[in-house]
Amino acid sequence: MKRIIIIAITFFLMMQISVQAQKAVGNPFPKGNEVTATFTGTVWLHPLVAKDSTFNLVAGSVTFEPGARSFWHTHQAGQILLITDGIGYTQEKGKPIRVIRKGEVITCLPNIEHWHGASSASSMTHISLNPNAEKGVVTWLQPVTDEQYNGPKQ
Ligand code: MN
Repeated sequence: MKRIIIIAITFFLMMQISVQAQKAVGNPFPKGNEVTATFTGTVWLHPLVAKDSTFNLVAGSVTFEPGARSFWHTHQAGQILLITDGIGYTQEKGKPIRVIRKGEVITCLPNIEHWHGASSASSMTHISLNPNAEKGVVTWLQPVTDEQYNGPKQ
């Protein structure tokens, strides 16, 4: 009986360690709330830094479910993307789609038309940083069609 109790306690403690380990991997921020406008598919936004006159920076964690992507858009002052989870795509107008992965840093230059989102088989989460937000943050354009999304990758 004593042996069974020891085995049960050991099993319970191992399960707790396993749960803690699962929390330590993957996206460091909550998914936030689902957003629908200016995105195709299921996209979640967790705001991190609101625009103010001290930092002039807008930041958020954005999670795209597989196949989900932003509309085409431009940033008046550019944008930096820190890929925190998964595999995604990004594309500048007139160029092939680029595959982007967890751990990469992507820069979107000012006023260059582009989009970003998940790959077809994996979700993707990035932290978006929009500096110099006093110049404007984003101008939304048309949706990315399925034909464009399924275009050549590099
Ligand atoms: Mn962008």
